[in-house]
Amino acid sequence: MTSIKGMIEWPYPVRYGVVNKVDADVLVLGGGIPGSWAALYAAKEGVKVVLVEQADVYSAGPGGADQFWNVAENPCSKISSDELIQSMEEVDPYLNGITAYVTLKDSYDIVLEYEKMGAKVRDILDEYKGAPFRDEETKFVFYLDWENKIHIMPWGQTLRPALYGALRRAGVEMYGRVKVTSLLTEGGKQGSRVVGATGVNVRTGEFYIFRARATVLCTGHINERIWTYIGARFQPVPILPSQSGAGHAAAWRAGAEFTLMEARRIFHGLAGFPFYSVGRSYDPYYGCTIVDATGKEIPYVTDDGKILKSVEERFCPSLTGKRAYLPHGKEKYARPHSLSSDPIKFPELVKKGEYVLPLYLDLPSMPEHVRNYMFRQCLVSEGKGWIIYKMLTEHGFDPSQDMLQCYGEGVILDPVKSWTVRTSRGGLVHDWYLKTNLEGLFVAGDICFNTLGHTTAACSGRWAGVYAARYAKQSPKPEVDENQVEAEMKRAYAPIERSDGINWKELNAGISKVLRTYCWEWANEEMFKIALITLRELEEKEAKEVVAFNPYELTRVLECFDLLTVAQMVVYAGMARKACSEFLAFYRSDYPEKDPPEWTKFITMRLDNGRVEYGELPIRFYLRPPFAPTYKENYEKFKPW
Ligand SMILES: Cc1cc2nc3c(=O)[nH]c(=O)nc-3n(C[C@H](O)[C@H](O)[C@H](O)COP(=O)(O)OP(=O)(O)OC[C@H]3O[C@@H](n4cnc5c(N)ncnc54)[C@H](O)[C@@H]3O)c2cc1C
Repeated sequence: MTSIKGMIEWPYPVRYGVVNKVDADVLVLGGGIPGSWAALYAAKEGVKVVLVEQADVYSAGPGGADQFWNVAENPCSKISSDELIQSMEEVDPYLNGITAYVTLKDSYDIVLEYEKMGAKVRDILDEYKGAPFRDEETKFVFYLDWENKIHIMPWGQTLRPALYGALRRAGVEMYGRVKVTSLLTEGGKQGSRVVGATGVNVRTGEFYIFRARATVLCTGHINERIWTYIGARFQPVPILPSQSGAGHAAAWRAGAEFTLMEARRIFHGLAGFPFYSVGRSYDPYYGCTIVDATGKEIPYVTDDGKILKSVEERFCPSLTGKRAYLPHGKEKYARPHSLSSDPIKFPELVKKGEYVLPLYLDLPSMPEHVRNYMFRQCLVSEGKGWIIYKMLTEHGFDPSQDMLQCYGEGVILDPVKSWTVRTSRGGLVHDWYLKTNLEGLFVAGDICFNTLGHTTAACSGRWAGVYAARYAKQSPKPEVDENQVEAEMKRAYAPIERSDGINWKELNAGISKVLRTYCWEWANEEMFKIALITLRELEEKEAKEVVAFNPYELTRVLECFDLLTVAQMVVYAGMARKACSEFLAFYRSDYPEKDPPEWTKFITMRLDNGRVEYGELPIRFYLRPPFAPTYKENYEKFKPW
C-alpha cells in the first residue's frame, strides 16, 4: 500500500515517471466491442497486434447486446439489407451508410462467429419453445419486431468472455488499465501520419509509449458527463463514465477530420420508456404492461391513438400499419409507446388525477414466456444488466408475483428538467476502408460519425482491423518524435506536480455548466462565443490549477482535459452550422429555419497548425466518386475477404 500526501491508502505501487515502450504493427486503442474485433481480425492477418484499454479488457465497454440490431442476412429476416438501408436513410439523412451497410451485410457472420467462439446466440435449451418471438427451426430469439425477425437476441452475458478467449488465442498483446492520452504523429506534426500513442496506467501512473505502423481508434463515444455532470455524482446513465471522448480529443489534436459534432440525441423525459429499478432501466422492459399505483393500466398507443391491448401486439408492426420496427426508428419505423412516454401529455393526466404515481411494471399479469423474456432475457443479456438481475432476485424479487416500481416520477412530471443531451453522433470522417484523413489512422465503433450499436461495432472493427494490418504491412517503420512525447508527459503529469489546487470534479462541473448554460437545446452566435471564451478561460486557468493525489484522480483529471477539448469541438461545430435541424436535434434561435436544403450536408472540421479548418461533404458522400454509386457495389469492392 502506498500512502500519498496524507490521503487515502492507495492499494497499488505508484510509479510516476516510469516509461514503458511497446512496439506494434497494429495498435488498437479501446478494448470494447469494436476494439476487440479489430484486434482479432488484424491478428488474423499475421501481424503483431497490441490492444490498449483503460478498464480490464475482459469486461471492457458497455458491450450492450440484449439485441443484435439489424441482422438483415439472418435466415429468418423478412427484410433485405437493401430494403433496410433505404429505411435507415429515410429515418436519418445523415446516416453513416458505410458502417450501416457493412453491418447489414456482415452482422449475421458476427452472430455465427460469436457462436463458434463459445457464446450462446440461440435458445438451445428450448426455454422459449413455442413463443411468438422464437423461430422454431433456427432457435433464434428475436427482439422488438417479432414479425420481420431482424433483431436477434443473444445471451449477451456470454459474448465478452467468448471474445476475450478469442483475443488470447489469437495472441493479441493486451494492456489493460492503461488510459490513452494522445496520438503520436510523424515529426510531432498535426495532420501527419499517426505512428502510435501515449498512455498512463490508471493504477500505477506509469507512462506508456506505443509505437505502431497503423492505429485503430475504438474508444467509443462521449458520455453525458460533458453535459450534465454536476460535481456530486455521475449521472445515472448507461454509458460508461470513463468514456470521456478521449479518442475524439486525441484525434482532434492530431489533426483528424470530424463531422456532426454539433448533432445531439436529445432524450425527452423518459427516452421513450419509463425507468425502472436501477442501471439499464428502460430498454429491456420495452413492451411490459404498466399500471399506476391503483392498478389502472397505462395503455400502449399507436401514432393514431389505437390502444394495443396484448403484449404481442406491441411487437408486431403490421398491426400498427408499419413496415418494421427499428431500434431508433421514427415515424414509419417507430414502435408504439405507452402513454407515459409522452413527456407533455402524461404529466397533465397525472395532474388531473387520471393516473396515480408511482407506476409499476405489471410483470405478473403477463404470459410466462413473455415475462421471462423481458425480465430475464432482455435484462440479463444486456451487457452488464445481469448484475441488476442478480441483485433483484437475490433480494427476493419474484417477477411472477412482484411488480417493479418505476423510478421516473420526477422525470415524468418535469419533462423540461429531464432532457438529456448527448453528443453521441459526432465522430471521425472515414472512407470504406474505415481509414481517416490521417495516414495510419483507422476507426471502428461508435467513434465513427453517426454510428451506434454492438453489431456495427463488431462489423466495423473487423474491416478496420484487416485494413490496418494490410496498411501496416506495406508502411515504413514508424518514428516517434521525442519532443512530442516529452510534451505529452509534461501535460499528463502536471496535475501530480502540484501540492494544492482544485479537484477534478470542480473542473468537470465547470465544463458541463458552460455547455448547459450556453449550448443546451437552443443557442445562438452570441451564446456560442461566450461558451468558447469561457471554455478557453477554463483551459488557461482552472485546468492549470487542478491537482491529483493518486493515479485514480490523475485519470479523472485527464478525462476532464479530454472533455474540455471535446466541449470546444462541440462549440466550433455549432458555430459552423447556420441553420436548425430536426434530424440533428440542433437548434439556433438566430437561424430558425429547419433543415433548409442548402444546409443538409456534413460540416467537417479539423485542426491545421492549431487553427480550425472547416469543410463540407455532401449527404451520402460515400456513394459519390471516388466511390461507386450504390451500397452494393461499394460493399463488393471494399469487402476485405
Ligand atoms: C447499457 C447499454 C446497452 C446497450 N445495448 C445495446 C444493444 O442492445 N444492442 C446494440 O447493438 N448496442 C447496444 N448498446 C451500444 C453498444 O454497446 C455500443 O454501440 C458498442 O459497444 C460499441 O461501442 P463503442 O464504440 O462505444 O465501444 P465500446 O464497446 O464502448 O468500447 C470502447 C472502449 O474504449 C475504452 N476507452 C475509452 N477511452 C479510453 C482511453 N482513453 N484509453 C483506453 N481505453 C479507452 C473504454 O473503456 C471502452 O472499453 C448499448 C450500450 C449501452 C451503454
